[in-house]
Amino acid sequence: MSNAHLAEPFKIKMVEPLRMISREERVQAIIRAGYNPFLLKSEEVYIDLLTDSGTGAMSDTQWAGLMLGDEAYAGSRNYYNLAESVEEIFGYKYTIPTHQGRGAEQVLFPQLIKQGQYVLGNMHFDTTKAHIELSGGRARNFVIEEAFDTETYHPFKGNFDVEKMDAFIREKGAENIAFILVTITCNSAGGQPVSMQNVRDVRACAKKHGVRMFFDSARFAENAYFVQQREEGYADKSVREIIREMFSYGEGTTVSAKKDPLVNIGGLLCFKDDEELFKACQAMTVPMEGFPTYGGLAGRDMECLARGLREGTEEDYLAYRINQVKYLGDRLLDGGVPIQYPTGGHAVFVDAKRMLPHIPADQFPAHALANELYIEGGVRGVEIGSLLLGRDPETGKQQASPMELLRLTIPRRVYTYNHMDVIADSLINIKNRAERITGLDFTYEPKILRHFTARLEPVAN
Ligand SMILES: *Cc1c(COP(=O)(O)O)cnc(C)c1O
Repeated sequence: MSNAHLAEPFKIKMVEPLRMISREERVQAIIRAGYNPFLLKSEEVYIDLLTDSGTGAMSDTQWAGLMLGDEAYAGSRNYYNLAESVEEIFGYKYTIPTHQGRGAEQVLFPQLIKQGQYVLGNMHFDTTKAHIELSGGRARNFVIEEAFDTETYHPFKGNFDVEKMDAFIREKGAENIAFILVTITCNSAGGQPVSMQNVRDVRACAKKHGVRMFFDSARFAENAYFVQQREEGYADKSVREIIREMFSYGEGTTVSAKKDPLVNIGGLLCFKDDEELFKACQAMTVPMEGFPTYGGLAGRDMECLARGLREGTEEDYLAYRINQVKYLGDRLLDGGVPIQYPTGGHAVFVDAKRMLPHIPADQFPAHALANELYIEGGVRGVEIGSLLLGRDPETGKQQASPMELLRLTIPRRVYTYNHMDVIADSLINIKNRAERITGLDFTYEPKILRHFTARLEPVAN
């Protein structure tokens, strides 16, 4: 296993000091936060791995772009720069900016979903699932079984089980399928990539049944880098070429620009060539996000995004990015901490089911581990497991997630390899006293997206 540092392809022009807080302060802080790291103040956190969403560092070129904001209500030059950047990267003709990825979801989904229809995905992201349900749809996941096996190597654990999806469409009837949504990389399965071949197979299945196909592409550049590194026939293709090919198979995409496009806020809704759908979405953008040439973003934000789209697809950057995340994964594996293997693009997922086998699903083992990691090292991670999954909407029963993961999401261009070592050392220390960690129970449980605001307490031993 190689633990080599692939040095940063940038130098640092500005720094943001971090407060080194004591263990005693951290214990007090997590109690105040109701044992929910989402409710910590960021000042109480040393290394913040809650998300890679909107937490990246912009480049000097992007900051320079801020000064070129054209804050016209309609027809800002930055909108045209953005649309040009989208066409260059994705090959898509029509662009609507939105305030973030979920803004694109709330505009697009009601256009595509009729009451009771299914939306088929590899694994839907949480806000995506919520917007499908808010539009009257039912979200179903068809990711391959290997995605749930954290120990065995598979190069594309984000892939669809196309046969299983095909059987589902035949059973329910194509008229009951709203569309297929391909999430790249597959965030909820551990930032795992989808292969080009699988996208082609999904496309063939969609075509056969006359079902529409779209992308949810927060991390399309990281996905393309994995295709280049792992898929036969792509080693000599550029990341840009791979992205263009992949997007040629879909009709459009929602994008959370807070991920690979390297901005702190923003989103996109883009279409290859469907002018009618584009116009219908433009009309709905006005009451929901803003006039269609700004969609909830300032002109300067659109300029940063236009530049970030290009920077986020540069190969030196992607090689460093993917390798920094892999470095953390390798250190944890070396230290005997079980993780989703191979390491995904934007995060390392610790397998809490294997690390804390004594804590049952309804006491949220990965969430217990998140709290422990905060107390140990001031590091904030997030649970992706039964707490996130929630209750069955029909029966109200707590569902047991197939995986109980602690997600350590690495912000882009923000932390150094020394920070990765602090995280790894903290988890290795915790591993040595894992059997003394207890599960959690609710003191307050909200109805929708409960993991953001729930309050909990440790169960009595
Ligand atoms: C982040 C994300 C979204 C939602 O985007 P926001 O910008 O957070 O609104 C949707 N899908 C996936 C796969 C994501 O990672």
